[in-house]
Amino acid sequence: MVRGSFTGSEKMGTLMRKCEKCSEYTLKDVCKKCGAKTVVPVPSRFSPEDRYGKYRRMLKRCTYG
Ligand SMILES: [Zn+2]
Repeated sequence: MVRGSFTGSEKMGTLMRKCEKCSEYTLKDVCKKCGAKTVVPVPSRFSPEDRYGKYRRMLKRCTYG
C-alpha cells in the first residue's frame, strides 16, 4: 500500500536521499559528509511515523498536563 507512493519518485530515475543530521542530499545510503544513515524524504502525511508521533505528543500532553 505504502509502496504505491514511491513509484512516482522511481519514475524520475534518481531517488535522492537526505541526511537527517546535516540535511545533505545524496544518492548513497550513508551521508558523505558525516557518515550518518540517510533517508528518502517523503511527505509527512505518507509517513506512518508521523501518526505515532502525534499519539506520542498527545500522551505526553496528558502525562505532563
Ligand atoms: Zn550528514
